[in-house]
Order: sequence, then structure tokens, then C-alpha cells
Amino acid sequence: MAECKHPRVRIVSRDEDSEFVECLECGEVFESSEFRDMTIEETKLKNES
Ligand SMILES: [Zn+2]
Repeated sequence: MAECKHPRVRIVSRDEDSEFVECLECGEVFESSEFRDMTIEETKLKNES
């Protein structure tokens, strides 16, 4: 399978200083602070801020 660029994510959990997102394509879970350094599509995050 090709490497997933995680084009679509949703927030799965959040606490004071970390937030976790799940890729809707491959199901992998990331800490969103790491993920922002990658090419995140920010639609979901923008909606919440
Ligand atoms: Zn993915």
C-alpha cells in the first residue's frame, strides 16, 4: 500500500497540552502537535478554534 499522507483527520481525544487525531484514511493515531509539522489539512482544527 502507498504511504498514507493522512489527508483527513479527526480529533479523538484532547487534554490540557496534547490533542490526538486519527487519520480517516488509514486509522493511524497521532499527537496533533507533531502532525501540524507535517502537511495537515486544518479544516477540522480550524473549526474548533
Ligand atoms: Zn493516514
